[in-house]
Amino acid sequence: MQTACTKDELRTLLAPVRGKRIVLVPTMGALHEGHATLLRQARALAGAEGCVVASVFLNPVQFDNAGDLATYPQTPEADLQTCLACGVDVVFMPTPDIMYCPDRSITLEETHLSTVLCGAKRPGHFAGVCLVVNKLFNLVQPTDAIFGKKDYQQLAILRRMVRDLDIPITLHGAEIVRGEDGLALSSRNVRLTPEHRAAAPGIRRALLAAAEAYGAGADIVSVCADVQAALSAIPGVVVDYVELVDAENLHAVTDERRLALLAVAAFFGEVRLIDNIELSRNV
Ligand code: AMP
Repeated sequence: MQTACTKDELRTLLAPVRGKRIVLVPTMGALHEGHATLLRQARALAGAEGCVVASVFLNPVQFDNAGDLATYPQTPEADLQTCLACGVDVVFMPTPDIMYCPDRSITLEETHLSTVLCGAKRPGHFAGVCLVVNKLFNLVQPTDAIFGKKDYQQLAILRRMVRDLDIPITLHGAEIVRGEDGLALSSRNVRLTPEHRAAAPGIRRALLAAAEAYGAGADIVSVCADVQAALSAIPGVVVDYVELVDAENLHAVTDERRLALLAVAAFFGEVRLIDNIELSRNV
């Protein structure tokens, strides 16, 4: 495994593998088993001949909350070990001043899918994601990239970006990796108090109950109200949103035969957790 810290180092490392399958997994570091699963999937996709690139970059441009950025965990040494164990070939670990020119003046805004769910709550977040992912795509020029469904809206927006900008990269969505208690793995979980960590699997239980109710025909308003009530009952939790939307366009469900998405965000103290579940009617 080789590590690049600058764009030139990255170009040099990738020069010999141009023309082969190159699979990129972008991350913000503090890697956990969810990231490791994506990296192993990338290895399998690339095969022995191909190249797996992981980026570890805490992208300041996508943070709408300075406190969240300042407290975001960073474990670069352990991240390198994880990448090595998962069969990564090249790790790209730039600093913000390497990634961005101080007078950068181009923005990249998706204007439909980004207006709802987390986009409505975190102004500028998805523009920052699109910008950094576009830069990573240009630097790495992968054939494929893997993103987790944990960030379902992010994946939908990036699919739209690839489609609308004719970016010649195949995107792959990976299923959410959870702890044994059902909590979706997240770099932010380590910031939870013991009480909140113990209560957080309640999110998954609420989503599973909602999926069952929706499958059995419950109406959208009552499904959301039940999830809202279940999460609000956890001491110290402030619900940011509970929304049941069309899984593809992320807007209101207009055709209940299509796949739907129930997405939630909730503050456990200072820590904002997100989770989601795909839903369909059984009838
Ligand atoms: P992050 O470091 O949080 O930006 O995540 C990097 C990538 O890993 C994104 O595509 C995430 O969706 C994905 N990811 C993070 N946590 C999980 C998880 N628990 N299961 C599946 N994918 C995940």
